[in-house]
Amino acid sequence: MMNLKDKIVLITGASSGIGAACAEIFAEAGAKLILVARRQDRLEEIGRELKEKYSCQSHLIRLDVRDRDQVAATFASLPPEWCAVDVLINNAGLSRGLDKLYQGNIDDWEEMIDTNVKGLLYVTRSLVPGMVARDRGHIVNIGSIAGHQTYPGGNVYCGSKAAVRSISEGLKQDLLGTAIRVTSIDPGMVETEFSQVRFHGDSDRAQQVYQNLTPLTAYDIAEVIFFCVTRPAHVNISEMLLVPTDQA
Ligand code: NDP
Repeated sequence: MMNLKDKIVLITGASSGIGAACAEIFAEAGAKLILVARRQDRLEEIGRELKEKYSCQSHLIRLDVRDRDQVAATFASLPPEWCAVDVLINNAGLSRGLDKLYQGNIDDWEEMIDTNVKGLLYVTRSLVPGMVARDRGHIVNIGSIAGHQTYPGGNVYCGSKAAVRSISEGLKQDLLGTAIRVTSIDPGMVETEFSQVRFHGDSDRAQQVYQNLTPLTAYDIAEVIFFCVTRPAHVNISEMLLVPTDQA
């Protein structure tokens, strides 16, 4: 198993859900963390907790991944001791609404595409050249079952996650001949703040999503990401589809 002691792991969307669970699991393994999200207070709380529990060193970055210039400037000016990112977990993402396409809210579409697709691309474009120069690294992109199956009202979100899947595959091909690995993790239903965000804070609607099934936890996903990253260097798990046992 690959040793993560003092490896630098950068997680976008680290302030809740799957990203926060990844932070905990990688901290426990001795990694140093760069935690990225917009909610600085959450990042500070997580950073403090991981320091207390695991003596984890973390570097917190308040950043909106949709801001192309800010993404480029932030990663071009990382402090020297945080520059050599070993693992990039492109996790920041969201869904909005479940509207029919012809009735959809165009602001919601833009938010999903700008975050899930363009944000992921901006971060990748900023950090992967360093990995190529060092000839080491692992990029984990969080896709979704929505990139495999389109469900009613899923239209634009499903399209954004299908794009993540293609981008992961394309990046993997572009990196052939280097030591860098690319993994696409595609979860089914995971109980996080995702549903609250999808329905703009409507908790009743958010809870209805989990009726009749036991959703995955953020830790279920984080453990699988950890497994993929810690395989020996010659093993690349290029794609994993993880669903609750009772999800169709
Ligand atoms: P959460 O809502 O709990 O977490 C989403 C994270 O993304 C938050 O930390 C949020 O932080 C961050 N984020 C959102 N927009 C931005 C932005 N513009 N810039 C920076 N960070 C941003 O949901 P999950 O943990 O469930 O979601 C994580 C990933 O998993 C997403 O890509 C999602 O699409 C995917 N996924 C989730 C599933 C589920 O059922 N939960 C199923 C399949 C895939 P902040 O608001 O502080 O910026």
